[in-house]
Amino acid sequence: MATLHCLGLPRIGPKRELKFALERYWRAEDSAAKLEQQAFEIRQYNWQLQKSFDFVSVGDFSLYDQVLDMSQLLGNLPKRAIKENSSDLDNYFRAARGRSASDSACNCSHAAEMTKWFDTNYHYIVPEFSNETDFKLNSKKLIKQISEAQALGNSVKAVIIGPLSYLWLGKSKDASNKLDLLERLLPLYRALLDDIANSGVEWVQIDEPALVCNLDEQWQQAYERAYHYLQHKKLKLLLSTYFGELKENLKLACQLPVAGLHIDAVRARSELNKIIDWLPNYKVLSLGVIDGRNIWKSDLSSLIELLKPLHSKLGDRLWLSHSCSLLHVPVDLESESPSKLDIYHWLAFAKQKIEELSILGRALNEGISSVEDELQHNRACIEQRQSSSQVHKDEVKKAVAAINPSLGERQHSFERRSKLQQEKLKLPAYPTTSIGSFPQTTTIRAARRAFKNGELKQAEYEEAMKQEIRDCISKQEKLGLDVLVHGEAERNDMVEYFGEQLQGFAFTQLAWVQSYGSRCVKPPILFGDVQRKKAISIDWTCYAQAQTLRPMKGMLTGPVTILNWSFVRDDQPRKDSCLQIALAIREEVLDLEKAGVNIIQIDEAALREGLPLRQEQWQEYLAWAVESYRICANGVKDETQIHTHMCYSEFNDILPSIAHMDADVITIECSRSDMELLDAFEQFAYPNAIGPGVYDIHSPNIPSVDAVVKLIRKAENYIQPERLWLNPDCGLKTRQWDEVLPALENMVKASKQLRKEASNKGSRTAELKLF
Ligand code: GLN
Ligand code: ZN
Repeated sequence: MATLHCLGLPRIGPKRELKFALERYWRAEDSAAKLEQQAFEIRQYNWQLQKSFDFVSVGDFSLYDQVLDMSQLLGNLPKRAIKENSSDLDNYFRAARGRSASDSACNCSHAAEMTKWFDTNYHYIVPEFSNETDFKLNSKKLIKQISEAQALGNSVKAVIIGPLSYLWLGKSKDASNKLDLLERLLPLYRALLDDIANSGVEWVQIDEPALVCNLDEQWQQAYERAYHYLQHKKLKLLLSTYFGELKENLKLACQLPVAGLHIDAVRARSELNKIIDWLPNYKVLSLGVIDGRNIWKSDLSSLIELLKPLHSKLGDRLWLSHSCSLLHVPVDLESESPSKLDIYHWLAFAKQKIEELSILGRALNEGISSVEDELQHNRACIEQRQSSSQVHKDEVKKAVAAINPSLGERQHSFERRSKLQQEKLKLPAYPTTSIGSFPQTTTIRAARRAFKNGELKQAEYEEAMKQEIRDCISKQEKLGLDVLVHGEAERNDMVEYFGEQLQGFAFTQLAWVQSYGSRCVKPPILFGDVQRKKAISIDWTCYAQAQTLRPMKGMLTGPVTILNWSFVRDDQPRKDSCLQIALAIREEVLDLEKAGVNIIQIDEAALREGLPLRQEQWQEYLAWAVESYRICANGVKDETQIHTHMCYSEFNDILPSIAHMDADVITIECSRSDMELLDAFEQFAYPNAIGPGVYDIHSPNIPSVDAVVKLIRKAENYIQPERLWLNPDCGLKTRQWDEVLPALENMVKASKQLRKEASNKGSRTAELKLF
């Protein structure tokens, strides 16, 4: 019998219940008990979904982030987040987001750094390490969840992050080698396994996704050491890897002394035969055959063909699952209405992917005839998608075939362009701007909702948005910002908004996916060849420009980000999809320029996260990603200033590619990592202008004037002052006006102070830019 199990499920809840519960708790409207109750209900819902499987997973749930849970479980929350007399829950939230419900505003940042979980759009809270790190086991929460699940009659498989991946994901705050901490960590893992065993659990899924990354010998040896040490008399460990091929770690993964191995059989399909050969025959092999990273229905008939011989060979040793946790797909397709979503029948979300797995299980365990109807329906859907005329458009394929590199070239160098731009824009030194969005107030959201539901007529909706734009501009003028934005009130989400207006994308009503903490995104689904049907942002941007004499920045989302934040086609290479989007956005860029917009920002927030996990594949990705950006952005005249924005980008290895994008100004995340990000700029002289973020928009804290000045002074170690801009880390849509106003006020004051100091010194910056 093939065993069925699930690596993990979304925890946000089918209607984002967790998001709302968290936010009520943070606003001190709900008690901790109420929040815990909601969390319990979601876990219960998830266990219910897995009831036809051999186990339910416990430990995949998290109130904010599973890595942060692991940090708390290991007693490794940053010390600055822990307050005396504060509950574990509040310490946890303080580490996650700078403050918890019981805190009043303060200006010290307790929050830890956040970064992308492997190559996904999920952000985890980065564990911090130093020589002094002193772990302390606190397994209460996990053990309690295990008993909860057992009390409901479930057979439990516990899920934890393995010690090496935990170290891999963290960051050493001093110069110490994080691997040295392994010896300190292992006794805690052993004690944790004891606790789990004592709660009556037999299997532990120990996640080691780091095994799909490039590991040097030191790390490989550490794996050997750790898993020899962690052998357990009572417990069986299922070592789970996902997100890619194991490559040079394959032998290691097969041979570690554990009871089973899970592999991502979608992305590492090519390694299957080798693994079957190399896996010792006492071990279970769990195959993640259903894609946990995308939303397409699986072709079940061909999977059964693949699995039948493997099942005969492996018998009971064969386990079936999804490629990875289903955290990365929406909860339930049934929340969508088939009449509003043409491609409904081509899709499967988490709940449907669980059903697909149980169909596969039945086909193998009880024979194909037991699932004949299900297979027939599945085949019909797959065939309909393959032959749909909605998917293939000849003129788009021709336009992509006709692309030549000159489409991506600016007319002249940055030196020349920047002079022409400065003549036109007359910006002061240390110019201030924002990243695009301003607080999305309840009024804005209500108006958008009413318009969507048909309660607000087009003209009324437009008037409401214009009101917001006027208001946002007048606030920016009062603040004294130099380059203004319209505020993006009309945009629900920077990718969904563009996806909705491009042909080839479908969008959903409730298909939310967690991005970090309580924040979710609703990625569009790229299903067919892409075309711009009509101008997208021109009217709003021109309206905004007409309200002010200051320069207005047009805001667009770039092709790589649209691609990386969408669910994409699995029937053509990502590169082809990206070039199609690039051509569509290029039309928008050129139309904005024609309409008299002198500054255009093209956000490539997600460029870095598209990097393959394996470094040897980076160049290939960067080549087409940067080319797509260049094609989209660089068709403008010298006088038009192009900005790009990137969040959470670590630049070290990709700076030459970023420079090759040739944006006039790049704004980047920086403040939370204390300008550390700029280290990369020491090795590589970035040629154009930069706005390192000086305001951490993921925290409610307000930076002081002094803090901003200090950050910029630090940045000046790497970047010539005349090339520096002041701006927040990212868009402000998730913040409140009463936080944003004082924060930006301080940012503007800081820029004035910097200008003054520069002019006192008679520096080149002042001469160049103080008119
Ligand atoms: N322009 C977008 C905004 O301000 C950028 C968001 C992002 O980078 N994630 O919201
Ligand atoms: Zn950003």
